[in-house]
Parts: sequence; structure tokens; C-alpha cells
Amino acid sequence: MVNEKENDIVSKIVSLCKRRGIIFQDSEIYGGIQGFYDYGPVGSQMKLNWKNLWWRDNVIRRRDVVGIDGSIITHPKVWEASGHVQNFGDLLVECKNCHHRFRPDLLDDPSKCPDCGGPFTAPRKFNILFQTEVGVIEGEKMTAYLKGEACQTIYLDFINVVDSTRVKIPFGIAQIGKAFRNEITPKNFLYRAREFEQWDIQYFVHPAEMDKWYEYWKDNRMNWYQKIFNHKDQLRFRQHAPDELAFYAKKAFDIEYRAPWGWAEMEGIHWRGDYDLTQHSKFSGKDLSYNDPVSHEKYLPWITETSGGVDRSFFFMLLDAYHEDKLENGEIRTWLQISPIISAYKMAIFPLAANKPELVQKAESIYQSLSRKYSIDWDDSSNIGKKYRRQDEIGTPWCLTVDYQTMEDDTVTIRDRDTMEQIRLKSSEVLSWLEKKLENL
Ligand code: ATP
Repeated sequence: MVNEKENDIVSKIVSLCKRRGIIFQDSEIYGGIQGFYDYGPVGSQMKLNWKNLWWRDNVIRRRDVVGIDGSIITHPKVWEASGHVQNFGDLLVECKNCHHRFRPDLLDDPSKCPDCGGPFTAPRKFNILFQTEVGVIEGEKMTAYLKGEACQTIYLDFINVVDSTRVKIPFGIAQIGKAFRNEITPKNFLYRAREFEQWDIQYFVHPAEMDKWYEYWKDNRMNWYQKIFNHKDQLRFRQHAPDELAFYAKKAFDIEYRAPWGWAEMEGIHWRGDYDLTQHSKFSGKDLSYNDPVSHEKYLPWITETSGGVDRSFFFMLLDAYHEDKLENGEIRTWLQISPIISAYKMAIFPLAANKPELVQKAESIYQSLSRKYSIDWDDSSNIGKKYRRQDEIGTPWCLTVDYQTMEDDTVTIRDRDTMEQIRLKSSEVLSWLEKKLENL
């Protein structure tokens, strides 16, 4: 159950996201559409940085993982083979009175409607795949599905990847891709949306090495999140109980974040065995086995999957980073304690007065030199306090001000987001100072 204070933090993040151009409700001028969101000017850059960080650590910096970018619509048989057409859904109950729909497993009291107290219909299964049609001639159109989970294209491309690259087992295929689920109860902002992105790795191994690699990825992914989140104690593993496991899974763990409404899944580490390649072999009639070039053994590899929500973890990362501090003058300072690698801007540049051409020109030349390498914000509005407040709220780590002293000794002020301390630097040294700050992140 969410209490007032916890709810408050979520609504504060939602309002901060809107106010500062991080995330908007999609189609807001039409009243919005539940479970769909747009990233704004600040948020789209942050999300790109968020995804690039994952990609850097899991693809660029690893010799044993390669990336793909699969399409959203696939052959409809894919979703029959995967079991989603028959079995991808949740139980749904409908209030006989107000006709609102709910997932009974998520209700505090599944015996009556939380909105009006009315009685429910019997639970029924509701498939959450989104359907569409492919083709141009009425009557000959083919029903297809938007990806219900991003990972399926990795299995479809498995043989193509093996044939077109130098990968050898053990190796992984990584993908960041959209997934669509017609969720019965989209809620808690980005936590349960209907359109979202997933970051997945399918790591292919010899069956005899499955245990070892499963444990490796479980630890690797937890360590990754622990490095980024400020509050490590808000992260934990949850092991799935035997009755939650798919028949092919020996074990399953979720990495959970302690959200304001309770512990909540952020990423799943799944033991998939050879289930997916077996299914797609069966349904496509194609042999998807791997030929070991050294031992000449031919087998279906087993898979450890790590599957996380890009938007869900982005939201948790914002919750983790959110601070409200009371300043000496009684004002509340809201700021995001995010790594400079994630912040939309590495630095914001302010000419102290917009009507002093020499200050603006100097600031402009610093902006030009830094922005060739980094994403830099510019603000020439008049109130320095407001400028800092805006940058604090979007997590910009450093603000640079060109002031009257700059005209005398060519130094600028740099103010640190976390400590609010200010230093003065020669303007010609700013780029190398920033490079130093950003290396090894
Ligand atoms: P849940 O039990 O929360 O519905 P799931 O177990 O169905 O999630 P998976 O199918 O394992 O989730 O998907 C992997 C990841 O994708 C999840 O850990 C989560 O981060 C993200 N995810 C799943 N559903 C949604 C959604 N509706 N909105 C945003 N992210 C989602």
C-alpha cells in the first residue's frame, strides 16, 4: 500500500519531469493516453546516455558480446513459437458497477472494486500482445503482433550472427529494443507502461557451463546497478519460488529496487536453457544448432538471459537520485545526484548579463569549444539563482559563469552541483579540467 509521503515522491518526480522537459505524458493535449510517455529535450538526451552506458559496458567493452537492432514487427509465427499468442497475459476482473478493470493479483482486496466498492466479474485471461495487420489488400492482410518482449529477435538472428561474425560460444547477443504490452493496469509512471524499451542480453553457452555463466551474469548485472545507484541498500535479489518458475528454468532471480510502493522488479536474470531455440527450430523447421569449430560437437546452446526495463530503471534511477535539501536561507534546493555520464548536459554556461556583449561573446566562445565534444547547456536569462535551480533539478554537474572578473583576468566561475562550492579557472583550462572530471566514469 502506498502511503501519502511515498506517493508524494512519485508525484514530485512526475512534476519535475514535466517542468524540466524530462518526460511528458504522451498526447497530453488530447487528454493523454494511459501507459504512453514522451521524453522531452532534457530526458531524451538523458535516456540516450542511459542506454549508451549499458551498451558501452555490455557490448563495446566486451569481446564476447555483439549487438543487434531487431524490428518491432516480426513474422506472427514467432509469437506462436514463443508461447505468447496462447499464453501471454494476466487475469482480469471487471467491476459490474463502474466497469473499471483490474488485475486481481495486484489488488489489496480482490473481493470488491477499489474505485466504487462494486462486485467483480469472474476472472478471465486477457492477452496483452498488441495486434496489427500487415499487407494492403482487404481480406488478405496478415495479423501480426508488436514485439511483446524485445529478446525474440535475438533468437531469430542467432544463426545469422554466428554466420556473419567471428563469435564462438560462449558469447552473447545484446539488444536495446521496444516492447509493447497492453497492460491491464498501467501505473506508477514509467514503471508499468504499455510501450517501453528493454535492454537484453542472451548469453549462449555449452549446457555443461550453464550454471557458471548464470551465476556470472547474475552478479555482473547487480554490480552494474550498484555502481550507478547512490543507495545500494535499495537494491536486492529476489529468487523466484519453485511454483513461479517456467518448466525449463532451474532458477530465476529478479534484481529489485525498493520503490516507494515496495520492492519492485527492475531486471530479470532468466535460465532459459534451450527452450527458445528448440521452439523456433520446431516452428520454423530450421536447424538452429551450433557447430563447435574446435570439438566439432553439434548442439543447441543454452541461454542465460538478462532482461531489464530501460524506462523502468531510468525512473528508479531518478527516484534514487532525487534530493530536497533545506538551505540556510530556508529555501528548498531540489537536485538530482546523477553521474555526469547520465546527465543531459555535462556543463551549463551562463554569461552573467545578457546585455553585455563582451560577456556573451566570451561565454559563446567557451560554449563553442566545449560543445564540439560534450553536450553543453546555455542560459542567458537574468536570475543566477533561477539558473542554478534549473540545472540542479536536471542534474547538471557543473555550471560555468562568465562574469566581470573574466574580462580582467580571463578566469571563470565553476560551481559544483553536489557541494555548491565555486572555484575559479582560467577559461583556456576549462576543457581539459572537464575532460579530467569525465574520464574513467
Ligand atoms: P512484471 O512482472 O513487472 O510485469 P515481467 O516479469 O513481465 O514484469 P519481463 O517480461 O521479465 O517482465 O521483462 C523484463 C523487464 O522489462 C522487467 O524487469 C521490467 O524492467 C521491464 N518491463 C516489463 N513490463 C514492463 C512495463 N509494462 N513497463 C515498463 N517496463 C516493463
